[in-house]
Amino acid sequence: MSELAAKAQKLDGADELAAKRAEFVLDDVVYLDGNSLGALPAAVPGRVEDVVRRQWGELRIRSWTEGGWWTAPERIGDRIAPLVGAAAGQIVVGDSTSVGLFKALVGAVRLARPADSGRDEIVVDATTFPTDGYIAGSAARMTGCTLRPVTPSEVPGVLGDRTAAVLLNHVDYRTGRLHDLPSLTAAVHAAGAPVVWDLCHSAGALPVGLDEHGVDLAVGCTYKYLNGGPGSPAFLYVRADLQDRFDSPLPGWNSHAEPFGMRPEYEPAAGAVRGRVGTPDILSMLALEAALEVWDGVTVDAVRAKSLALTDFFLECVEEYVPAGRVECVTPRAHAERGSQVALRCPDAGDVMGRLIERGVVGDFRHPDVLRFGFTPLYVGFADVERAARVLAEVLA
Ligand SMILES: *Cc1c(COP(=O)(O)O)cnc(C)c1O
Repeated sequence: MSELAAKAQKLDGADELAAKRAEFVLDDVVYLDGNSLGALPAAVPGRVEDVVRRQWGELRIRSWTEGGWWTAPERIGDRIAPLVGAAAGQIVVGDSTSVGLFKALVGAVRLARPADSGRDEIVVDATTFPTDGYIAGSAARMTGCTLRPVTPSEVPGVLGDRTAAVLLNHVDYRTGRLHDLPSLTAAVHAAGAPVVWDLCHSAGALPVGLDEHGVDLAVGCTYKYLNGGPGSPAFLYVRADLQDRFDSPLPGWNSHAEPFGMRPEYEPAAGAVRGRVGTPDILSMLALEAALEVWDGVTVDAVRAKSLALTDFFLECVEEYVPAGRVECVTPRAHAERGSQVALRCPDAGDVMGRLIERGVVGDFRHPDVLRFGFTPLYVGFADVERAARVLAEVLA
């Protein structure tokens, strides 16, 4: 056995999260794409079967009330809350991340800008995941703002009394760089504006501390590190003290103070419910609820510690096995700047990833030249990491 394989065995033996892997449906494939689609928690198929056959098939309409369907968006929001450092009552689940970003960003501009204010710029991360940029562009046109795309490090320098709202990513989806949420949030607040954080690549992977750092609004997806399943609904956080002023650009009957009053005038509900729009997507939502049970007894701090150990070990194995100069790591080495993925640049990345997948190591390729490996501490072990780096070296040789 190689030195690194022996080290992996030792690390796996000391891993307090190792038993969690058994709560997922996995095979012999090294699955390093949980940052795109989390693996299937074993409790989900049975729950979905129950939701479809009994709750829908037998109870039918009664499930909305007796079965807890109606309140599922807030209930599941409260289940996610501790994972992102939020007290209960501030998160609702529903719609896609893209839709949630729209609600949050237009809502943020409306919070920042009474009619007479000159705040007319939306600052957005120029390196963002495309949907965030598209939504920000549309939000700017709708609110009469100018879009100001800058890199996250340039954000503090462009803030001022024209800033209406800022949209930032906690972790860069391509490079895996972790941005400094506490200091950027403080900088936006010092300019008198609200900030919206996109937590797609941090929720379930590392501590976020929404309440602790006074974040205004946040959106995240649940099918990556939260393993909610393909297209599972997103979550929206609106800080408790802003909820009364949160004016959603998508007011639907589900966020009405009295949804069954069927009144022609809109009167927003109090609390997190105000972030809802229409009828919740119950099948995916309840699959997500079952998926979240894997978090019972798990702390985000333990997940973060293992995540850093996994990515450190992957970098060590890549350095040892892969011929020098063949790949360039674009993920920061410093723990404070690293999410839960490692991105390696190599000119033929698309082809390399195809061959890795053929050999049972699944990561993904991001245009134009990035190999992306996501590490989900709940089900990825150190032996997986060693094998992934070894197979990568074989493919690159
Ligand atoms: C995954 C991801 C999304 C996905 O948006 P959907 O509306 O769920 O398709 C958005 N933003 C970021 C930063 C992401 O990583």
